Amino acid sequence: MIPHLGEEEAQAAADAVRSGWVAQGPRVKQFEQEFAALVGASHGVATSSCTTALHLALVLLGIKPGDEVVVPSFSFIATANAVRYVGATPVFADVDLATGNITVETIDSVRTPRTRAVIAVHQGGVPFDTAALRKAADGWGVHLVEDAACAAGSTAYGQPAGTGAAVAAWSFHPRKLLTTGEGGMVTVDDALFAGRLRRLREHGMNVSAADRHASSQPVLEAYLETAFNYRMTDIQAAIGLVQLGRLPGLVAQRRSLATRYHELLADIEGLVPVRDPAYGQTNYQSFWVLLDGFKTTRDEVLAELATRGVSARRGIMAAHLEPAYADITPPPLPVTERLTRNSLILPLHHKLTADDQEHIVSVLRGLSR
Ligand SMILES: *Cc1c(COP(=O)(O)O)cnc(C)c1O
Repeated sequence: MIPHLGEEEAQAAADAVRSGWVAQGPRVKQFEQEFAALVGASHGVATSSCTTALHLALVLLGIKPGDEVVVPSFSFIATANAVRYVGATPVFADVDLATGNITVETIDSVRTPRTRAVIAVHQGGVPFDTAALRKAADGWGVHLVEDAACAAGSTAYGQPAGTGAAVAAWSFHPRKLLTTGEGGMVTVDDALFAGRLRRLREHGMNVSAADRHASSQPVLEAYLETAFNYRMTDIQAAIGLVQLGRLPGLVAQRRSLATRYHELLADIEGLVPVRDPAYGQTNYQSFWVLLDGFKTTRDEVLAELATRGVSARRGIMAAHLEPAYADITPPPLPVTERLTRNSLILPLHHKLTADDQEHIVSVLRGLSR
């Protein structure tokens, strides 16, 4: 992933600096409103990252020690870590082979009476089945937090991923489609949730520092609960506002590059590229291919690609295989292990050319026979 940053972002950041307002202020507010509108949510609360956004989401929902939260192991480790930040226990669920996402069935098979929430991830931009999971979570009486870190520009059931979510968390790290350097957002429809999230990200204050400074009268703030400093800066938001305008073009370009990959890879045995699920469209943030009966092992493929000047990456990680989670005995996670061990992520970025794609596929073709 190469971030798409231009002169416009540089100018916007410089304008924020010259304005003298660099901490959370008017640009953050505008970014929140425009981003929320883009993903079909009523409110956006900007944060310092998606990791802190996920933490706030679980605090908001009152998840606490003794509670279990079902998460995919097949995700960036921050998804599981957020559960531990509130002292709760992550319970790993397996994923669907085609989408890399947890499903009603995989969640149901690890659910217990202590399950209070599920964090479902739109992995690599591939939407999970929002309709099915939201309905199942309602039926079970558990909260559904949507980790939409990778999902800006993805759709499910004809709407942007995030539309209709009770709580969704987003990332603006440079590895995602939209970037503010570091940054995140929680989107919600409930106004009370939004108010509490604003307070939680800013030391528990009943009035934001920006509103206090803007007031002509002295405002005496109160600190209503022990909270955090998870604010975004106005410099970041200024960059984000420019990035929002790039999103449709970025997604369209990635989808056409992905289509070209599908055409080029079609006749190669033992190689299964990620695709849109029946109910939605991925933004192809990660274009992964699963080796399934391929002639060469994944690590040999990665090594050969590197030798030939192609920087592919290993597939998405599995948290339960990392030392940080060695103390957990997970249920069997055969699909997760198969995906993480046998998949790789091919280069897909706005500078990738047709020649690059042909070169990459020719290396893979050579390894397939
Ligand atoms: C990148 C990512 C995160 C963490 O995002 P940050 O903004 O870097 O904290 C969380 N979950 C998933 C699925 C991610 O891909």
